[in-house]
Amino acid sequence: MLEGCTPWPAETAERYRRTGVWRGIDLGTLPRAWAKEYGSATALVAGEERISYAELADRVERRAAGFVRQGVGPGDRIVLQLPNVPEFVEVAFALFRAGAKPVFSLTSHRAQEIRHLCELSEASGYVGPGVFRGFDHTALARQLAAELPALGKLFVLDDGEGGDGVVPLSRIDADPLPLPANDPSDVAFFLLSGGTTALPKLIPRTHDDYAYQTRTVARLVGLSTETVYLAALPVEFNFTWGCPGVVGTLSSGGTVVLAPDPTADDCFRLIERERVTLTSVVPTVARLWLEEREWSDADLSSLALLQIGGARLEPELAARITPELGCRLQQVFGMAEGLLTMSRPDDDIHSVLHTQGRPVSDADEVRIVDERGEPVPPGGTGELLTRGPYTLRGYYRAPEHNARAFTEDGFYRTGDLARVTPEGRLVIEGRIKDVVIRGGDKIAAGEVEAHLQTVPGVAAAAVVPVPDEYLGERIYAFLVHRGGPDGQPSLAVLKAALQQRGLADFKLPDRVEYVPDLPLTPLGKIDKKVLSAVAADPTRPRDWECSGPERPSHTALPTPTR
Ligand code: AMP
Repeated sequence: MLEGCTPWPAETAERYRRTGVWRGIDLGTLPRAWAKEYGSATALVAGEERISYAELADRVERRAAGFVRQGVGPGDRIVLQLPNVPEFVEVAFALFRAGAKPVFSLTSHRAQEIRHLCELSEASGYVGPGVFRGFDHTALARQLAAELPALGKLFVLDDGEGGDGVVPLSRIDADPLPLPANDPSDVAFFLLSGGTTALPKLIPRTHDDYAYQTRTVARLVGLSTETVYLAALPVEFNFTWGCPGVVGTLSSGGTVVLAPDPTADDCFRLIERERVTLTSVVPTVARLWLEEREWSDADLSSLALLQIGGARLEPELAARITPELGCRLQQVFGMAEGLLTMSRPDDDIHSVLHTQGRPVSDADEVRIVDERGEPVPPGGTGELLTRGPYTLRGYYRAPEHNARAFTEDGFYRTGDLARVTPEGRLVIEGRIKDVVIRGGDKIAAGEVEAHLQTVPGVAAAAVVPVPDEYLGERIYAFLVHRGGPDGQPSLAVLKAALQQRGLADFKLPDRVEYVPDLPLTPLGKIDKKVLSAVAADPTRPRDWECSGPERPSHTALPTPTR
């Protein structure tokens, strides 16, 4: 296994293999296997382009050979930052095939995040979209390549962008080569953690564990060759990529339709045109779809199931899905680290609306513990710990963090607060990790605080979530002013300063309030409970600055009207 990763204990791995949980599948070989089975059926639809399974396998083999010719090889880490285009799927599988390990990045990431991912993974290459939504990713990649000696290979989607050390993806194309197989227990790719610490961590996902996850969820959701899955959210989200998402649908011989954006406009049109049967969204997107549904006469009758997850789904919103969109609802709780829980097709309506269902695998182990790590009485609320065949055993190159994030016997501390109903269903009650979940995006409070504290005039910063009707939560920053001649930096000044530092837009504070001091707990830590209560109190005079309603980062959603 790649150095810096934590394998499952040998006897656990042996048990997973012996019991057929892990079947020794190399993700890089899947497109060829699918092509044998589903040949001329449509694998991918993007705009007017329709790609058959045979064509997809061919492109993957040719691109894999093309990457190898460019010097990309086994063990190389390659940061992959592409939107919902066929090239994402082709490049990801081609890199698997070549033994390289893509690091899935969000298109909303900017200099701070991309530099961190490149440094942490010691990436030797970067695949980017060129200019996307007004941002020049190639210029950024060039700048990083000049700073980071390891980052030698830059590939770009945009055809016009070649030259000067940057290779257009259209040129990553060569006659297929006989390439060595991957060790299925090795890392296939890296997902990003939602983050509890200042800097995001990398989640190694192995061939074995991801093949198991996608197969298990595909079966649970009942995928078949008739499935038409709409990738409405970004494909690099674990939810879209493999819950069962893109990989699960392709494994089942269905069709994946890539939506450029999760707007109701785009997605309703695609659902109607492609007769989509399944899609997955975050609650913020579901709410906007419901609003749009009032005005839209699109034919959504093909849609059988809508998965909603990634953030808390209010029961009131959940209750509107079937009556207003005409499809079944599946609640999904999960994390890029592994564990997934889902409601089941035969669950009673009350459970579907009010719980996050059961773990998807019988091999998932779940514990609910109190602050001392002791199991709570049955039905009690506590921190959710988990381990299992597709839940990581350690973040990449993070030994100190791993010592805190895992118990000695390998359970991952999720930072989520949960209880288990007598029927074994999970209810997520909140979280203890210091994270804001804004429109489904996860933002580590510590990361934003660290950047805010660099702005002249700011002596201290504490970031907490504040409830929001549309985004679920927003980012509320309490600041202590350092004094001095320039006065308190306004919200606009702070946002501009953070953007200037290269922080992704979705991490910028929505609201800011200056306080004389930050409240402390008896142990001398910032008391975020007090600050959260202050932020959430609707009766408080609203003397803070507010940036106004905004769309979630991964969409071009219209600004909701209030
Ligand atoms: P990510 O790895 O980015 O998908 O983030 C995982 C985290 O999102 C979980 O640990 C939870 O904090 C949160 N989350 C995911 N799904 C749900 C859900 N259905 N309800 C509440 N929180 C959720």
